[in-house]
Amino acid sequence: MDIRRIGVVGAGTMGNGIAHVFAGNGYEVILCDVQQSFLDRALATITKNLDREVAKNKIIAADKAAALARIHPVTERGQLADCDFVIEAATEKFATKTEIFRDLDRLVRPEIILASNTSSISITKLAAVTKRPDKVIGMHFFNPVPVMKLVEVIRGLATSQETFETVRDLSVKLQKTPVEVNDAPGFVSNRVLMPLLNEAMYAVMEGVATPEAVDEVFKLGMAHPMGPLTLADFIGLDVCLDIMRVLQAGLGDPKYRPCPLLIKMVDAGWLGRKSGRGFYKY
Ligand code: NAD
Repeated sequence: MDIRRIGVVGAGTMGNGIAHVFAGNGYEVILCDVQQSFLDRALATITKNLDREVAKNKIIAADKAAALARIHPVTERGQLADCDFVIEAATEKFATKTEIFRDLDRLVRPEIILASNTSSISITKLAAVTKRPDKVIGMHFFNPVPVMKLVEVIRGLATSQETFETVRDLSVKLQKTPVEVNDAPGFVSNRVLMPLLNEAMYAVMEGVATPEAVDEVFKLGMAHPMGPLTLADFIGLDVCLDIMRVLQAGLGDPKYRPCPLLIKMVDAGWLGRKSGRGFYKY
């Protein structure tokens, strides 16, 4: 099937980036969120990010205008009914996502693929609330979406080969690099990254080194562009804690125990960059 019209549910950090990338590659985008003010903010962010691409000579001003004209903000989910592909990038809450998947399953043509950008929720479970589990898949982009090349393409237990191939090919059309992963807690990215960040927090908690020293080790010794504690602050410490809890609950191994310092900082409201304080002050 020819995919031209894309539904994006959720216009936050990831949803606006996903809308930007689809529109920039010639797709019509119906961008849906619960409030007009969230859509306005998303369009302001997309405009700013397209301006940056113009300033860097990656695109010309006419491309920016054309991409913006292809994005149609809506608060009414019914407007997604005639989309050819829908990706959900709403808040990382199981109840929110199951409500959205049930509703999309009812609204959107039965042959249409429903994808989720979730970082940690089981694709198999989301698929199971629909009548088309073979057409439900994970399409996990990375922040900032217009810049990061990777798309983790996650097969739920029931995802068909045809669905997988469609999403893999769609990722390539967006000039991204798809990597195939099977559904499991944290997929590959967070299964491996989060325990690294968590262990870096243990090193700080136990007085092995300061956050600055831990970050220097990774920047200078392992050529990481940013150290693990700077990265944790960037991701959000509450998000890191949620993902550690998903790994702990889903895999059951004590090695996924969230660092007590992480729990304490989240309890204090020190959530990293977004709250002005985490391992560093902003
Ligand atoms: P965010 O909080 O910035 O945005 C979520 C948006 O979803 C908000 O605008 C909210 O109003 C909207 N929303 C909530 N309920 C909705 C509903 N019922 N219908 C429509 N919109 C609804 O969150 P985010 O960081 O963009 O994360 C979105 C998803 O992407 C999550 O599943 C998250 O795990 C995943 N993800 C995040 C990152 C990241 O670095 N932030 C990276 C990869 C994946």
